[in-house]
Amino acid sequence: MTDLPAPVGRRRTFAIISHPDAGKTTLTEKLLLFGGAIQLAGEVKAKKNRVSTRSDWMGIEKERGISVVTSVMTFEYGDCVFNLLDTPGHEDFSEDTYRTLTAVDSAIMVIDAAKGIEARTRKLFEVCRMRDIPIVTFINKMDREARSPFDLLDEIEKTLALDTAPVTWPISQGRSFAGTFDLRRNVVRRIDTDEEPTPVSGPDDPKLMSLLPPEEADAWQEEVMLAQEACKPFDLQAFREGHLTPVFFGSALRNFGVRDLIDALAAYAPPPRGQEADKRLVKASEPKMSGFVFKIQANMDPNHRDRIAFMRICSGKLQRGMKAKLVRTGKPMSLNSPQFFFAQDRAIADEAWAGDVVGIPNHGTLRIGDTLTEGEDIVFRGVPSFAPEILRRIKLQDAMKAKKLREALQQMAEEGVVQLFVPQDGSGAIVGVVGALQLDVLKERLAAEYGLPIDYEPTRFSICRWITADDPRELDKFIESHLSSMARDLDDAPVFMAPNQFNLQYEVDRYKAIQFSDVKDYQ
Ligand code: GDP
Repeated sequence: MTDLPAPVGRRRTFAIISHPDAGKTTLTEKLLLFGGAIQLAGEVKAKKNRVSTRSDWMGIEKERGISVVTSVMTFEYGDCVFNLLDTPGHEDFSEDTYRTLTAVDSAIMVIDAAKGIEARTRKLFEVCRMRDIPIVTFINKMDREARSPFDLLDEIEKTLALDTAPVTWPISQGRSFAGTFDLRRNVVRRIDTDEEPTPVSGPDDPKLMSLLPPEEADAWQEEVMLAQEACKPFDLQAFREGHLTPVFFGSALRNFGVRDLIDALAAYAPPPRGQEADKRLVKASEPKMSGFVFKIQANMDPNHRDRIAFMRICSGKLQRGMKAKLVRTGKPMSLNSPQFFFAQDRAIADEAWAGDVVGIPNHGTLRIGDTLTEGEDIVFRGVPSFAPEILRRIKLQDAMKAKKLREALQQMAEEGVVQLFVPQDGSGAIVGVVGALQLDVLKERLAAEYGLPIDYEPTRFSICRWITADDPRELDKFIESHLSSMARDLDDAPVFMAPNQFNLQYEVDRYKAIQFSDVKDYQ
C-alpha cells in the first residue's frame, strides 16, 4: 500500500448496501453532513423533489417515491477524500446496482436493528462477496425496539457466512438507548452529549450503570463481558479480505454512531485497490491513467442527447484536457470537461486520481464497460451483463416510427437501461430486464424523451443465454438450426432464447460443444 501516491492513498470509494427503509438515505445525509459536503441534513431527500433534476422529470420516480438513479457524492473528512456511490434504493434489483458495486473498494452494510438481515441486503452482500469487498456493518435504529445484539450478530454470521467483530456495544435500546460502549478501549459515547468519549474503568463502572435502566444493569454487564470474551477481535487482514466485518451500533436519525463509521472507513477501509483487466491486474499506483465506465446517465435535458458516463479511475491521474484512448474503438478521446459530483452540485474536475469517479459528458461515444486508457490497450473486467429474467416484445403505437424506435432502443441499451435483442428471424425487437421496474423506466423514457408511446407484449421466450463455442463451425451449425430462437445483442453477440428451463436444458444436453452462459462480460 505504501507505493500509492499520497492523493490516492487518501481515497476511500464505497457504497452503502441495505434493504429499503433500513436508513440508507438518512445515513447518507449524516455522512455528508460530517464531511461538510452539505449544510443541512435533509437535502439529499429534498433534492429528489427539485425541479430540473433528471429524477424529477422521471414521473415514475415521483409516483413511487424512489430513486432510480445511481449517482456519486464526493466529500472530505479528516485526511480522507470519500467517494460515496449511491445504489438505487428501490426494491427491484437492477443491473445498475451490480455495476455500481464493481466500482467500489468497500461498503457499509446498514441493518435495521429490529429486522436484521433482509432479502435485498443479502443479495447485495453476495455481489460484494464475489469481489471480496470489505464490509463495515452499521446496526441502525437502536433508538427503537431492537433485537438483542447477540441475536443480530449471530444472524449475520449464519446467513452471510461472515465473521463479526463488534467494536461497540449498545447501552440499552429503544427509548432508553443511551449510547455505546467501546468493547476494546473501555470508552463510552453518550447519545445526549454529542458523542464525546468518556473513559470508564470497564463494563461495571458506576458511570455506565447510571445510564442503564436499573433492571437491565446486571444482565447488560454480563452480556458485555461475554461479548468481550467470546467475540472475535477486529482483524484488519480478515476485514480487507472480506471475511470479517467490524460492527457498530447507532441511530442514523439521531446522528449517533455515524462518526464511528466514518472513522472506521478512514482507518481500515482499503485505499483504491488494483483492478482486474483482461491481460493483468492494474495497480492504483501505476502512473498512466486508466478507468472504466460503469454507469451512463442521460442528460437532464431531454432535448439534447448528451449523456454523462461515470468512470471509475483505476490508475494514474486524470487531468482536464488530456487525451485517452477508448479501447473499444481504438480512437483517442479528449477529456475536456470531466466533472465531480457533490451532494447538490457538480464541478469541473481539473484533476482526479485513482479511486475517484468522474462524470464525462459525451454524445453517445461511451458505453457501459468501456475502458479509457493513457497506456497500453487493456479492458477492465467486472462490469458484467446478466441474462435478463424478463423478456418482452415492444409494440409501437405508431407504426410509422419504427426507425426512430430502433435508434431510441439502441441508445437506451447503450445506457444500460434495458438489454436489446434483435431476433434473427426479422421479428420485432425484444427487450430484456433483470427487474420489472426497468420496463416502466424504459416506457416512461421513450415517451418523455423520444415521443414514442409503446406497449409491451409477451414473447414465447422467458430465458436467454449467450452462446459461444471453441469451434466456430459448431456455433454456426447451432445458429443455423435454431434461427427462430436466435437473436443478436447490442454487440452483435449471438443469444439463444428458450421458452422455459426444460427447453433450455434439452438444448444444453444435446449440444455439448456449445457453452450457454447467463453472464456476459463487456468486451
Ligand atoms: P432508506 O430506504 O434505506 O433510504 O431509508 P431512509 O433513510 O429513508 O429511512 C427510512 C425510515 O426510517 C425513515 O422514516 C427514517 O426517518 C427512519 N429512520 C432512519 N434511521 C433511523 C434511526 O436511526 N432511528 C429511527 N427511529 N428511525 C430511523
